[in-house]
Amino acid sequence: MLVVKKFGGSSVADKERIFNVANRCIEEYKAGNDVVVVLSAMGDTTDHLIGLANTINPKAKKRELDMLLTTGEQVSVSLMAMAMQALDVPAVSLNAFQVMMHSTSRYGNARFKRVDTERIQHELDSRKIVIVTGFQGVNKYDDITTLGRGGSDTTAVALAAALHADRCEIYTDVDGVYTADPRVVKNAKKLDTITYDEMLELASLGAKVLHNRSVEMAKKYNVELVVRSSLNRSEGTVVKEASKMEKLLVTGVAADSNTARISVIGVDDKPGIAFQIFDTLAKSYINVDIILQSVGREGTKDISFTVASEDLENALQVLDANKERLTIQKVTYNEDVAKLSIVGAGMMSNPGVAARMFEALYNSRVNINMISTSEIRITVLVAKNDIEKAMNAVHDGFGMAD
Ligand code: ASP
Ligand code: MG
Repeated sequence: MLVVKKFGGSSVADKERIFNVANRCIEEYKAGNDVVVVLSAMGDTTDHLIGLANTINPKAKKRELDMLLTTGEQVSVSLMAMAMQALDVPAVSLNAFQVMMHSTSRYGNARFKRVDTERIQHELDSRKIVIVTGFQGVNKYDDITTLGRGGSDTTAVALAAALHADRCEIYTDVDGVYTADPRVVKNAKKLDTITYDEMLELASLGAKVLHNRSVEMAKKYNVELVVRSSLNRSEGTVVKEASKMEKLLVTGVAADSNTARISVIGVDDKPGIAFQIFDTLAKSYINVDIILQSVGREGTKDISFTVASEDLENALQVLDANKERLTIQKVTYNEDVAKLSIVGAGMMSNPGVAARMFEALYNSRVNINMISTSEIRITVLVAKNDIEKAMNAVHDGFGMAD
């Protein structure tokens, strides 16, 4: 059996933890399995390196940043190989060049195109544990790239898919995926299973357990993922295809405070205005999320939408610069908002889920500003101050604690 095990930065943060991971991998190896290990940089190394770059050149080129950040993972894998060798187990560390993990050329946000397997296979055949740097790729210019923050999960899934691994385990410092953030909702429960689509919605909602693209890739190549803790033996959460499990009405609730609402007031109520507004924002690389348009009156209408907090300033500037052309009379905004979402594959075939969510919010006197839905998700915008109360109300309203 071939197993890919990925360990996050906190799992290899110091000497003790490195040996802890080494021992867990060796256990798997001694059970007769082929073991490929993917590692992130130790602890907060990546943040530290970004800080260091900023002190030298706050406008550093992405190419050079990638060159710098990828050193973090190289430290982890080489130390891990040394740890295993110190325990008399054959191991070899490899970076993206040595494996050849081909990526697109976009520095800072590259995607895998293809992963060669010969070198890894060769090392496995000589019964070594193979330890690979997460987070990095190589582009067509033979430059090193990174996959975006948290990208090591995606490295693990890419390798599991390319090697046709029997298992892909993502080790982190929590026991798995929960019905809600346990720090906010004290009744939150660990889930045994969750579907790819639910996980994708949760990942993009800021649940932060898995890198979004790792889940997309796992779904595409049908790689079952196990999310579990490196610090204990608890079973973890399996992420897999919906057809293989009973679909829960509501699997989880997530909050995201990294959002701001913008309203453009009094634009012309005629065809093409919404297109022009959102096209103008898109051309400035501003992602728009929930959108709400008022019913037109006296030839004008209002349009509200949310953007990520870090895009707020830019969005306001772009709107202001194009005020006349977009027929905007006034722009207002509110940063004290947060998104609350419920996710569940069973929603698709069950009416009344939205009503139940709104009832739970009403019962705790939380006002809803905006609403958006997908097949398996309902999101509402509420005041930032209300978010903890709202999360708990909805979580318990759907009996997720039971
Ligand atoms: N070390 C990188 C980061 O901190 C990649 C990862 O941890 O997955 O974002
Ligand atoms: Mg991570």
